[in-house]
Amino acid sequence: MSLEELFIKLLSFRSITPDDDGAYDFIKSYMQGWEFIDINIEDTKNLVIYKRFGDGEHLSFAGHIDVVPKGDGWESDPFKPLKKDGYIYARGTQDMKSGVCAFLSACKSVESFNGVISILLTSDEEGDGTYGTIKILEHLKSIDFLPDCVVVAEPTCEDKFGDSIKIGRRGSINGVLEIYGLQGHAAYPEKSINTIHLLAPLLDKLAAHKFDKGDEFFSPSTLVITDLRSGLEVTNVSPGYLKMMFNVRNSTKTKKEDIEKYIQDIMGELKYNLSLKQGSFPFITNKDSKLVKNMTKAVEQTLGIEPKHSTAGGTSDARYMGSFGIDVVEFGVRNDTIHAPNERVEFSEVEGLEKVFKKLIQLYKEN
Ligand SMILES: [Zn+2]
Repeated sequence: MSLEELFIKLLSFRSITPDDDGAYDFIKSYMQGWEFIDINIEDTKNLVIYKRFGDGEHLSFAGHIDVVPKGDGWESDPFKPLKKDGYIYARGTQDMKSGVCAFLSACKSVESFNGVISILLTSDEEGDGTYGTIKILEHLKSIDFLPDCVVVAEPTCEDKFGDSIKIGRRGSINGVLEIYGLQGHAAYPEKSINTIHLLAPLLDKLAAHKFDKGDEFFSPSTLVITDLRSGLEVTNVSPGYLKMMFNVRNSTKTKKEDIEKYIQDIMGELKYNLSLKQGSFPFITNKDSKLVKNMTKAVEQTLGIEPKHSTAGGTSDARYMGSFGIDVVEFGVRNDTIHAPNERVEFSEVEGLEKVFKKLIQLYKEN
């Protein structure tokens, strides 16, 4: 089966979260001769594929087989891959059946290795992921089979294929700030405590506040106000309640407690309530680690491009590896049409990605 045939086959499964639509049965037959562990919980299906070549390191590739729904605006059937001008159009071409295709093919071709090679697949990454990658890692930990390092093949490149490896991700903290005053007639401002007037002088200290200066890898952790409401949509009542929602994409330098303390200091004596929820934690893999070094070398030697080490963008399942203390990087094709109608990938990128993964495996074998 050629790489293109494999890719077309994977794209043809209508694997909308959390349904694999038979993709795993196909993958198991494709990876004949490897061992499989099924971890199915509720409606989520997870599959671990592995082969023990020796007693050395455990290198793993991870990805999701699920895709987001097609949505409006498609000019072709998103589950009937269309080839045009060097591109393939289908849902999941970039996010991320390209990555799954590349590592399945690269792993299948391995004849010798010094340790274990494994593949971690989930059918729920695009959903809330409750029973996805986190459950795979919990299970692997329970049987003492956690990988030493993981490559997540999410689409990471921006302008040019090869330009970006993700070596960490910012975390995400959601906040709701409520301020309490006293509602009253607009004609008698002295008799009410107007919550908009209470917030007004503080707004400048909150909007776009930077909790840290950032560093080589992370941009500053900034408070972004996402919603602000108060009042009754009339002109004759002073509001007695205000609600502000915000988000902080935090680096490893800023914690939930830092945000709590900052807002406490600003609010002073005001009557308020603050709730903060950490959606995901930030993580970073050391740039001098074997994984980051080998991944960088693999890209340079295969594609002739020096990739930058980035932590930009939203969250991905790589955060779970980070929280288990596993070295993790993300590398995949360009990401300019992910989740969009007419999602497409340049097929040469999928071919390049397979070569990069083969090179990475070879580099691991050499040292
Ligand atoms: Zn993805």
